[in-house]
Amino acid sequence: MKEVVAGVDIGGTNTVIGFVDAEGVIHAGGNLSTPDYALADDFVIALDAKLKEMMAENSGLKLIGIGIGAPNANFNKGTIELAPNLRWKGIIPLVRMTEEATGLRTRITNDANAAALGEMIFGAAKGVKDFIILTLGTGLGSGFVVDGEVVYGHTGFAGELGHMIVVEGGRVCGCGRRGCLETYASATGLVRTALSLLSDRRDDSTLRELRGSEITSRRIAEAAAAGDLIAQKALDQTARMIALGIANSVIFSSPEVIYLFGGLANAGEALFGPVRKYADELVQPVFRGTFRVEPSGLPEVQAAVLGASALIWKEMK
Ligand SMILES: [Zn+2]
Repeated sequence: MKEVVAGVDIGGTNTVIGFVDAEGVIHAGGNLSTPDYALADDFVIALDAKLKEMMAENSGLKLIGIGIGAPNANFNKGTIELAPNLRWKGIIPLVRMTEEATGLRTRITNDANAAALGEMIFGAAKGVKDFIILTLGTGLGSGFVVDGEVVYGHTGFAGELGHMIVVEGGRVCGCGRRGCLETYASATGLVRTALSLLSDRRDDSTLRELRGSEITSRRIAEAAAAGDLIAQKALDQTARMIALGIANSVIFSSPEVIYLFGGLANAGEALFGPVRKYADELVQPVFRGTFRVEPSGLPEVQAAVLGASALIWKEMK
């Protein structure tokens, strides 16, 4: 019998499940439509049924635990707390509920910390004891690993770099404040920067041929690669903000590597080049040359499930 962990990635529209072995190979997969379950209790019943169905179809596998990645998840308490894009309101003790329903050891953390664990157990960070991962998607998630352990802090919510204020009185953030790093250093931030450059400058740009909603981070990256000045400036300013976040983070955890993951990181050297250059320029001189900025080693489509399963696999090692 091959031992596997169920990696469960709970998203606002879809929950993805994968049976992951100790080497990070996914042996079976399944889905649940998250918004179909108005109550977390109903979701847990459906999850239990789905896991049993997947086990029945894979008789050679032995399920030993469940790792969950979810928005606003608290590792310390085993809860999901006030998640804006889920229907379950208030504080949901999802770990206790899942353990009672399935009889299996269950752990939960937020998506970015799951990404950090995935990187540590299965990805590029194997053997790296001090690192930071930045997930550059719609927002900016981050996971801090110090001496081989994810930093959760007193509340369980530590290390949310996306909400470090980098411009006081700056752009409005979803958290209700202004000037948070993720309003600049994310796919959404890149689009906001491009739109403001388009309105402030007179340069020709292929982006001007697009309707507002068609201006996506991917289109901007493509335009920049094709030589578009506005797109290049937008990408450059975004890289500088990412580098500012890195320079500030290096001060308090002195990582060996900063991994960049997610949609924006796919821009490749066009992003990594300027991020490395600006991080070197902005960081306190004593740290210059002490860290590397590298791409994640996890395949993007599998990373969330691998990371969630790593919550359990880490405890087994
Ligand atoms: Zn914020």
